[in-house]
Amino acid sequence: MSTNTTATLPYEKWFLHEGQEGLRAYYESVAAAVDVVSAVTERMKAPYHGASPEQVAEEVNRLSLPEAKETALHQVLAELTPLLAHNIHVNHTHCMAHLHCPPLLPSLAGEMLISAFNQSMDSWDQSAAATYIEEKIIAWLTSLYGLGQTSDGTFTSGGTQSNYMGLLLARDAYCEKTWNHNVQRDGLPKEAGTMRILCSKAAHFTVLKSASQLGLGERSVVLVETDEKQRLSLTDLQVKLAQLQKENLSPFAIVGTCGTTDFGSIDPLEELAAFAEAHDLWFHVDAAYGGALAFSKEGARKIQGIQFADSLSIDFHKLFYQPISCGAFFVKNAAHFRYVTFHADYLNPEMDEEDGLVHLVNKSIQTTRRFDALKLYLSLRTMGLETFGEMIDDTLQVARRFATELDLSPDFVVVNKEPEISAVVFRYEPKGDYARDEMTKEIHHQLFYESKAVIAKTTYEGSLYLKVTLLNPRITMEALRALLDDIERIGQNFIQRGGNGRD
Ligand SMILES: *Cc1c(COP(=O)(O)O)cnc(C)c1O
Repeated sequence: MSTNTTATLPYEKWFLHEGQEGLRAYYESVAAAVDVVSAVTERMKAPYHGASPEQVAEEVNRLSLPEAKETALHQVLAELTPLLAHNIHVNHTHCMAHLHCPPLLPSLAGEMLISAFNQSMDSWDQSAAATYIEEKIIAWLTSLYGLGQTSDGTFTSGGTQSNYMGLLLARDAYCEKTWNHNVQRDGLPKEAGTMRILCSKAAHFTVLKSASQLGLGERSVVLVETDEKQRLSLTDLQVKLAQLQKENLSPFAIVGTCGTTDFGSIDPLEELAAFAEAHDLWFHVDAAYGGALAFSKEGARKIQGIQFADSLSIDFHKLFYQPISCGAFFVKNAAHFRYVTFHADYLNPEMDEEDGLVHLVNKSIQTTRRFDALKLYLSLRTMGLETFGEMIDDTLQVARRFATELDLSPDFVVVNKEPEISAVVFRYEPKGDYARDEMTKEIHHQLFYESKAVIAKTTYEGSLYLKVTLLNPRITMEALRALLDDIERIGQNFIQRGGNGRD
C-alpha cells in the first residue's frame, strides 16, 4: 500500500484528527448533539412528561438497530430526540426525588474534554498530565477534609465503590493486624465468620452489599438503632458492642454516615471517632451526600469529626452537581492502599516505581478509569468556592423553610422537622378515617404522571411517606407551596372517592 492512500481511507471522517477536515467533522458532530440538548431542554415543561412505562417501552421498541450501511448522525439524532424527551429532566426544578443532581455547566464542558482526550487513569503512560492533575485535586481535597499528611485518595465511580473500598481496606488491615493473615494472597482467614461491622440502621444499603461481596456476609453487619433525629444512637452502640464482646465476636469497623440517604441526618462523627479509637475499630465515614457541606458556612460545623475518618467516601455527582459518574475515596494512611495494589508487567511494573512513575491503578479497584477529576476542577475553579458554598447554604435553607411550613400546617406531618441537609420526609395526613399509605402512594403516582413533580417515597416506622431531596438551588418556596397544593388536591380527591378504611 502506498503512503498517499492514507488520506482516502474511508474511516477518516469517524475520528478526531489534526487538520481542518477532522476538526470540522468534530464541530459538526458536537453541534448536532448540542442541538438535541437545546431542543429537549427548550421543550422541557415538566420534570417528566407523563408517559406510562408501556408507552415509553413501545416507542423505544421502534428504535432502529444498527444496520449494515451508515446512517447520518443528524438522522439518528432526529429519531432519538422524541425518546430523549421522555427521560427524567434532572435540570427541571421539580425533579427532586433522589440524590440526582442537575449538572453544573462547566462540568458539561469538562465532560467534552474528558471524552475527547479520553485519558485513562490507570497508568502514567495513558494519562501523563491527567495523572498529576488528579493527584493535585486529591491532595487539595485531603487537606480540605483535614485528613492529614499521610492521607491519600482516588476518584471512584461513586459512593458504592468508595464504601466497598473502605470496608475492603478495613477488613484486610484487621486480618493482617489481628491474625497476621494476608487476605490478598490467601483469601479469608478461618476466623472471618466472627468479623463484625457496626453502622446505624439508616446507613446506606451498600454497607450490607459490600459485606456480602467481601465474603463476610450480610450477617456481619450489626445495625445500631437511630435516635429521634435519625442519627446513630450512641446508647445503643454501647449495647451492641457489649453484646458482640460477650459473644466473642470481632468488631473491626464502624461506619458513620454523614448525610443519610433518606433524611440527610449526620451521625455524631466526633463521638464515633472517639469510640472507634477506644475500641480499635476502623472508622469509615460515608459522606456521599454530606461531603459538600465542607464548603458551606453552616455545613462545615455540622460535619466536624469527618477529619478523624480512617477512610472516607464522597460523591461529586450528588451535592457537588457533577454529571454521573464522579466520586472519591480517601484513606488516612496511604499505605493501606497496598491491599488493592497489583503489579502487572504490561501496565504498572514495580520497576517503574523505582523510576518515579506514578500509576494510579495502584490505588484503585478499577483499571481503565475516566478523568472525572477534570470536571470537578473546572466547576469549582470557575464558579469559585464562595458561590459554591452559598449555593449549598441556600439549598439547606430552602429545605429548612419547607420543613417548617409543613410542620406548621395542620394537615401535614413531617418526620425530620429540622433537616440537616436537604431531604425532607413528610406526608399529607388530614384528620379522618382513610387508608393513609394508599393515599400517599396515589399522591406520589399522580404527581409523576400529571407531570407535576418527580418526588420519592420511603418507609418510616412501617408507614409510607413522601420525600423530596432538594438539590436544585433554583427551586423557590412558591414552587414548593404549589407542590403542596397539588398534594392536597390529589389527597382530597382520594378521600372523596371513598378511600376509607385503614392501612
Ligand atoms: C448515594 C449514596 C451512596 C451510593 O453512591 P453511588 O454514587 O450511588 O454509588 C452511598 N451512600 C450514601 C449515603 C449515598 O447517599
